[in-house]
Amino acid sequence: MNPTTNPRLTSWIPVPADSHFPIQNLPYGVFRRQTGGPAAVGVAIGDQVLDLSVLAARDLLPGGYFDRPSLNAFFAAGRAVQSGTRAVISRLLSADEARLRDDSALRGQALVAQRDVEMLLPCEIGDYTDFYASREHATNVGTMMRGADNALQPNWLHLPVGYHGRASSVVVSGTDLRRPCGQTKPADAPAPLFGPSKNVDFELELGAFIGTGNDLGTAIPADRTPDHLFGVVLLNDWSARDIQAWEYVPLGPFLAKNFGTSISPWVVPLEALEPFRVAGPKQDPEPLPYLKTKGPEGYDIQLEVSIQGAKMDRPHVVCRSNARYLYWSFAQQLAHHTVNGCNLRPGDLLGTGTISGPVPESFGSMLELAWRGTKPIAFPNGETRSFLQDGDRVTMTGWCQGDGYRVGLGEVTGVILPARSV
Ligand code: CA
Repeated sequence: MNPTTNPRLTSWIPVPADSHFPIQNLPYGVFRRQTGGPAAVGVAIGDQVLDLSVLAARDLLPGGYFDRPSLNAFFAAGRAVQSGTRAVISRLLSADEARLRDDSALRGQALVAQRDVEMLLPCEIGDYTDFYASREHATNVGTMMRGADNALQPNWLHLPVGYHGRASSVVVSGTDLRRPCGQTKPADAPAPLFGPSKNVDFELELGAFIGTGNDLGTAIPADRTPDHLFGVVLLNDWSARDIQAWEYVPLGPFLAKNFGTSISPWVVPLEALEPFRVAGPKQDPEPLPYLKTKGPEGYDIQLEVSIQGAKMDRPHVVCRSNARYLYWSFAQQLAHHTVNGCNLRPGDLLGTGTISGPVPESFGSMLELAWRGTKPIAFPNGETRSFLQDGDRVTMTGWCQGDGYRVGLGEVTGVILPARSV
């Protein structure tokens, strides 16, 4: 077993059992102190941030990766550096390790409360690709559009369907977004209309960050994923369904998707998720050889989405799903993406696509939860929703449940603001 994920490991920093950030997690993020100073790379532990740039300046960690406003250099450093760094951080935070625990001056410099920092995007994202890897989601959407008999397109069970998204509008949790304006074509309208989207939706996804890339012209084999995928975040792929329905033929979604994509700030390394690997859904028909993997490639990550409208006094959970429902694994997404020789670079982001499960409560978008407006979601204060209203806050969270601890992804949250006047 990897000693950094040992369930019995404890830290001298107190961590409540329901915290997402015990010593078994150690996710990386980029932060800036509210007191000022440059952005730096840190690790979350309990309700604190461990400033890795301070530890590197004392030669406790390697230099060149952490005194900077992005994780790209660390993503590119490769597994040996990444695993070695994780092992050192785990050791420094362990209950029986005195080096940092008993040095109050160093501790004062290296630890800062999470409430006293601003979290930034974890890296410069060169490219963003969004897959469509949940069979339940693809089936639900296909059923609504084409009927149950033709729900899945002929290619769907043979390859992880994806498209190239837009990296410039990926934003960190806490960023509010304007309701987008665009063209829509209601069925009964003789010509397209222009105005604010009426069908703004969320999509519950995970995002995976590329660590070491691959050269143009080479492919990443499915069983080499751990060398190239660094870690995961929560991802809300905001969508304007009415704009999408009119614009998507024949090249796929465009302005319906690129007005904003929100991610959680803490990147949880695959190493931390290793104890929570599970078998994914059985794949039938059997995938082609380049998409075959050996071990269990699913992850048991419980996922929740809540909505809080402007007039609601608390968030209301509208979806409970799990990453284990994904039909196409990260490994298969990566293998497929590069099988033609397409090069991925450190900090590129892969979205899984909406993660829906088998029961209605586990559907990962409002399109599915309210079944295209036919079954509006009811809230405790009497309000209903088929799609998001101005002022609605959408919050996603996710965690792996260990025995007495949680390895969590934190949360991604954002509010839909009124459209700009047009
Ligand atoms: Ca999506």
